[in-house]
Amino acid sequence: MWKSTCPRCGGSADPSCERCGGRGEAEWDRCPASVSKGTREFVDAAVVLERDGLAPAPGAGGDQAAWFMDALGVWHGERAAIERRRRAAEEA
Ligand SMILES: [Zn+2]
Repeated sequence: MWKSTCPRCGGSADPSCERCGGRGEAEWDRCPASVSKGTREFVDAAVVLERDGLAPAPGAGGDQAAWFMDALGVWHGERAAIERRRRAAEEA
């Protein structure tokens, strides 16, 4: 078993998150390689689309496909976690 930032709430530890129950971490039973390749590919695609202002559907977040919003959640969650660790290291 391994743990990652919760892909549903982006590690925000939202108590209403159905994936992590508010822990902000997700537990996985599968080999990371079996999960991460597909996840990485769709997150990469979503990041490029967001960066270039090319969301899959016209309109705001509510109009986008679930995969796109999930992928952006993973991306923003990981960036926020890295920033928190960086700040904690600077304060230590
Ligand atoms: Zn969560």
